[in-house]
Amino acid sequence: MKVPFLDFVGPYEELKAELDEAYFRFMRSAWYVLGKEVEAFEQEFAAYCGVKHCIGVGNGLEALYLILRAYGIGKGDEVIVPSNTYIATWLAVSYTDAVPVPVECNPRTFNLDPDRIAAAITPKTKAIMPVHLYGQPADMDPINTIARKHGLKVIEDNAQAQGARYKGRRTGSLGDAAGNSFYPGKNLGAYGDAGAVTTDDAALADRIRTLRNYGSKKKYYNEVKGYNSRLDELQAAFLRVKLKKMDAWNDRRRAIAARYQDVWRGQPSLVTPSVPDWAEPVWHLFVVRHPQRDRLQQTLTEAGIGTMIHYPVPPHLSGAYADGGWSRGNFPIAENLAETVLSLPMGPHLTPELAGNVISEVNRAVQILKEPILGIPA
Ligand SMILES: *Cc1c(COP(=O)(O)O)cnc(C)c1O
Repeated sequence: MKVPFLDFVGPYEELKAELDEAYFRFMRSAWYVLGKEVEAFEQEFAAYCGVKHCIGVGNGLEALYLILRAYGIGKGDEVIVPSNTYIATWLAVSYTDAVPVPVECNPRTFNLDPDRIAAAITPKTKAIMPVHLYGQPADMDPINTIARKHGLKVIEDNAQAQGARYKGRRTGSLGDAAGNSFYPGKNLGAYGDAGAVTTDDAALADRIRTLRNYGSKKKYYNEVKGYNSRLDELQAAFLRVKLKKMDAWNDRRRAIAARYQDVWRGQPSLVTPSVPDWAEPVWHLFVVRHPQRDRLQQTLTEAGIGTMIHYPVPPHLSGAYADGGWSRGNFPIAENLAETVLSLPMGPHLTPELAGNVISEVNRAVQILKEPILGIPA
């Protein structure tokens, strides 16, 4: 029985009537950019996250970039980012001409280690960008405390964690502002590119509304050199349908994750993610570590189990940052993760039967590869 890494058919089948209705409503409206659907989605998503403002933008990268730009961060500034993240977190900083300053994560939770942040702060530091990686909230209280002490902004990269909670509060509401992505594979996925900024900061929200629309509040009166980064009306209509399913679908992910955690707890060579007791993750990805990751992936591929690596190259070693002066050995935790992580099938439409198949094939593969643990930091 083949198990795809991601299932894009299941979500459409479950919501076909409502998604089709949204499409026809949109076509009949004959209004394509910044209309009623975007406005309604912005209100609904703000309420969902528990923030005052949501501004729909073109994608997650631009959401992060526009926040930095609206806070006036740019040339000569530094922004703290995790060493282990999708490269978009870093690129958002680089596009402002500020410098991303990497800090290592806790390898058990994959998230920014608050104890390592202070050492990375300099007089040039302007902001900290924690990422709720793989759908698990970062430890925000100590991060906010350090930020307040040094007068820094906290900008959450909430691309992977729609619906997650930290000490009962939703991610996307835990810092000064958050960038959200609705890329199709994300937990709240559109049918194309889409993103949003969430914040309680009214002045920031106002600046981003202007920046996303050519720097104008009033058509053809351009106050600043803005961008064209607007959430599409049609995508907003689809997102409104999917937002209603968000919690139910995240619950299904949690049930699968609980099953995976249960079977592999105490398994010496296969390390599953640690979940602190204040965290309610939404399992955008279920990431395990194995000392022979490539062979594990190969064995699973042969058994028909789809897997992926998030991410095979840490940003500091990527070609994009060849000019950054970094080399292998600078961020050993991120480098080790790149060599040991493997994402297993996960999603609201992964049936219990298919998840059972993943479990038995992983068990079989681990048995085949049995060897002492090498190279995984505790
Ligand atoms: C997907 C993602 C982004 C960027 O979102 P896009 O909508 O693809 O631009 C940013 N950060 C992280 C951690 C992501 O996973």
